[in-house]
Amino acid sequence: MERKADESTAGSDAPPFRRLPAVHAVLGDARLAEVAARLGHETVVAAVRSAIDDARDGLRAGRIVASSSEELAARAMTILEAARPALRPAINATGILLHTGLGRSPMAEEAIAAVAALARGYCNLELDLHDGERGRRTTGVARLLRDLTGAAAATVVNNNAGATMLALRALGAAAPAADRPREVIVSRGQLVEIGGSFRLPEIFEAAGVKLREVGTTNRTRLDDYARAIGPATAAILRVHPSNFRIVGFTEQPALADLAGLARAHGLPLIDDIGSGALGPGMPPGIAGEPTAAEGIAAGADLVLFSGDKLLGGPQCGILVGTAAAIRKVEGEPLMRALRVDKMTLAALEATLALIADPARAATRIPLWRMLGADLAAIRRRAEDLAAILRGELGLDASVVDAESYLGGGSVPISPIESSAVRVGPPFPAAHPSESSWARALRLGEPAVVPRVSRGAVLFDVRTVAEDEEPRLLDAIRRSCHDQGAEHDPSEGTDPSPRAS
Ligand SMILES: *Cc1c(COP(=O)(O)O)cnc(C)c1O
Repeated sequence: MERKADESTAGSDAPPFRRLPAVHAVLGDARLAEVAARLGHETVVAAVRSAIDDARDGLRAGRIVASSSEELAARAMTILEAARPALRPAINATGILLHTGLGRSPMAEEAIAAVAALARGYCNLELDLHDGERGRRTTGVARLLRDLTGAAAATVVNNNAGATMLALRALGAAAPAADRPREVIVSRGQLVEIGGSFRLPEIFEAAGVKLREVGTTNRTRLDDYARAIGPATAAILRVHPSNFRIVGFTEQPALADLAGLARAHGLPLIDDIGSGALGPGMPPGIAGEPTAAEGIAAGADLVLFSGDKLLGGPQCGILVGTAAAIRKVEGEPLMRALRVDKMTLAALEATLALIADPARAATRIPLWRMLGADLAAIRRRAEDLAAILRGELGLDASVVDAESYLGGGSVPISPIESSAVRVGPPFPAAHPSESSWARALRLGEPAVVPRVSRGAVLFDVRTVAEDEEPRLLDAIRRSCHDQGAEHDPSEGTDPSPRAS
């Protein structure tokens, strides 16, 4: 956009910047007026001033710069775009409730308020307010977790992958006398990969613990575990196959039987349930998922799960279990590297407090609310949205049956009935394809992430909160008025992000 001025124009007498348009003239640009409605007038005025200043500096330096109102408006748009945060809110219209790419679980207002209250100032993170001495950061959440799961002790780390690694190190790493690595026994049918980067054999490797596989992919019996126990055995690990099912001729021993076997050999049993159902008070519509309370009741020494799956809280990894096992975990040097911050603890404490009253949790925790949403109500909302897209925007919008999924590595094979608004071609504003329009929606404000499928764009209503609907509609309206898809590098590919 800038070229070196040639000799003849650089020396002209009238200062060229006098000819630059005034701020209000640039502000008249329709694109900027639209952005001002979203980001506020002041923000846009600042960007326009800065575009004009840049042009003035360029002219002073003797360069030829783009200086028409339209060019300056375009420059201001670029400045505004660069100032947008890289991480920004998105409307999830994919129907995947726990979408790792979209930050998994939205949080309850109570959790958000707790985070805001603590983020603003100081707090008693590691200060015992009774005696003014050093306290533990997990005291409050540990109490709630004990109450909710029946465990004797509890602690929290950064995520469940960290919890697994920590549990393996604390209960499965080499004993001081042993000269070879100690083993942790796992059923072959439970060597899971979750979310691409959680692969159980690699977690073992990172933890410095030897993996001892037993049984076969589809069947592992108690006796397979019993025969594998030897002098090198440090622990038994059970892992919930969160994101797949082996069906047909299958067998796994009951957790209580595994616990009995472990106890008989003086070995600890670790149960990674993955999804974070606590037990009393389950999210609506979730049946058959293992719970922490069951794991504890069956005799597991440690039960591990995520805070941002079925719990509907912040990202974290939760460990509940015997006092001895939790003491070992908390004594691991790795614990310090995986510890959670005050904001996570605040959000978790508030979420657990809601779950202590399941009826409240069902309406207050967004994930629970989405899971419990009545199909007829979802369908009505989809019909209303489709009617607006047809009537106001002239789009080919209709309501179709859809399948939502819990996602995030939980209950993968049970689709949840839902309704989606399906928009077929022609797509708005010069978007030649469904992927081109979907890309424009993702890059809009707010970002909207729909599902792209067979020549159409689908908006699954189950994962769109009712109070997000006006913003969803605004974003779709804007995508109809934008500049289209002149330079769309993703054309022809399916850009919809994968669930974990
Ligand atoms: C999801 C999951 C994990 C990983 O949990 P993160 O909190 O994502 O680290 C580990 N184990 C199981 C069984 C899971 O389902």
